[in-house]
Amino acid sequence: MGKTVLVVANWKSNGSLADAHVLAMGVRNECEHIDGVQVVLCPPAVWLTEVRNIVHDQIHHLAVGLQDISSEPAGAYTGEIAAALVAGLAQFVIIGHSERQRLYRESDEQLHEKIRAALTASITPVICVGEQQQSSTSKVTLARQLDRVLHTLTATQRNQCIIAYEPVWAISKGKLKSTRPASAEYANEVAEYLHRVVPATTKIIYGGSVDAANVLTFVAQPHLDGVLVGAASLHLREFSTLIKNAAKASDHADKYR
Ligand code: PEP
Repeated sequence: MGKTVLVVANWKSNGSLADAHVLAMGVRNECEHIDGVQVVLCPPAVWLTEVRNIVHDQIHHLAVGLQDISSEPAGAYTGEIAAALVAGLAQFVIIGHSERQRLYRESDEQLHEKIRAALTASITPVICVGEQQQSSTSKVTLARQLDRVLHTLTATQRNQCIIAYEPVWAISKGKLKSTRPASAEYANEVAEYLHRVVPATTKIIYGGSVDAANVLTFVAQPHLDGVLVGAASLHLREFSTLIKNAAKASDHADKYR
């Protein structure tokens, strides 16, 4: 049996309100005609409500997410977005993106607290793990890293998370086709290895220079359930084709061949 392919769009800190509106409307129109793909739009937090209003209740396989969440509860934490505030608004949240780890020095313990906060608010964490440089010990290091951020979570809680394997060396700086992605076979091998830390049913996706042309090679891999997309998710035509191509690996593939 095939699968439902997950496509998470990380818009990062880009675009105006008008841009967010046009992009979300365009993706919504595209998704109306496609089955077998779950698309999650993660706009800048300021546009969350706008994007959510466009996708909400319209199409069941289109959802919204945040790019980060506070590890603290609601209260006197100036500038933070507590999970409780966005419960019911966002269905997903990206946690531990390498840009946040590099620029804001998030510790494993903080990531752990963020994951717990998201789960408590019934928001699905999309947890990023990735090595700085590819080496023969990458898989082992990544599995240890993942185990550290999940350390008190039960198997059931681990299964409620999505793991995004994002090798840092393959992530673009925001320009389409500027960086080489990992090979799909290597990403698949890492995903298989990470299942030592999370249950076999936990979804693992790949991120790093995914575009319309290469997406199918990733989502067709047996241990990869989808992709996390940065630069390509900001270009409507590219992203629409990417969604269509990702659907070719799904249960409903016959429609898109
Ligand atoms: C990312 O930053 O999470 C990412 C996958 O970016 P890109 O697709 O641009 O490499």
